[in-house]
Amino acid sequence: MTDRLKEIRCFLLDMDGTFYLGDRLIEGSLEFLQKLRDTGRQCLFLTNNSSKSASFYVEKLKRMGVPEEFRRVLTSGQAAARYVTARFPGKKAFLLANRIESAEMEALGVETDREHPDYVLIAFDTELDYAKLTALCDHVRAGLPYIATHPDFNCPTETGFIPDIGATIAYVKASTGREPDVIIGKPYGGIVEETLRATGLKKEEMAMVGDRLYTDIATGRNFGMLSILVMSGETTQEMLRGSPIQPDLVFDRLRDMIPLL
Ligand SMILES: [Mg+2]
Repeated sequence: MTDRLKEIRCFLLDMDGTFYLGDRLIEGSLEFLQKLRDTGRQCLFLTNNSSKSASFYVEKLKRMGVPEEFRRVLTSGQAAARYVTARFPGKKAFLLANRIESAEMEALGVETDREHPDYVLIAFDTELDYAKLTALCDHVRAGLPYIATHPDFNCPTETGFIPDIGATIAYVKASTGREPDVIIGKPYGGIVEETLRATGLKKEEMAMVGDRLYTDIATGRNFGMLSILVMSGETTQEMLRGSPIQPDLVFDRLRDMIPLL
């Protein structure tokens, strides 16, 4: 399996738990990028978090000393915007998103109409309230195409978990009986298609690297990419042993891959 590393041209990197922890770089992450540069490889940072814009993450990576050539970020929000603008050209969305993400989606060409939308698009709305939930349920109940940026139930923060979009999806299901027709983010395919489009590479030339079995590693497995688990985030040895989702390779941290590249 380590031979397959030689063929990888682009590493799809999860961020929190893989490249950094909160506001702290994981030791050796910058050296890993240096090795990518020395061997003519690239990386693309992937995140399911659709409550922040890609530029937020680009700034964060810049503050952490990541060279400009590696500051490429794809969020599930961006991938979802590309999906709906290709799938529903000229149509209007009921968009559930906070102000930051709404602005990013609109800049990417997502047109909205809260009263008479053609489809529903939901992101991780950190400004969610009852009026928004009610309107969302109305439009989903009416049978409009229903797209979600990602499936995560909780978002880890410095002070513990906060409820993520998966909790909203469950709320809508309880009220309307419907689940999203399409989910874009890890471990689903929309975000993978967008990475293939953005990099111009084939799946066999990409590896998915992350600290979560059920999102990062599942994405690699679901779409035929080399899957690499790093033990620098949330997965413990016990979780790994008990999981039906098994990575192709396991390293303590990104740095440990350097000698094999
Ligand atoms: Mg992570």
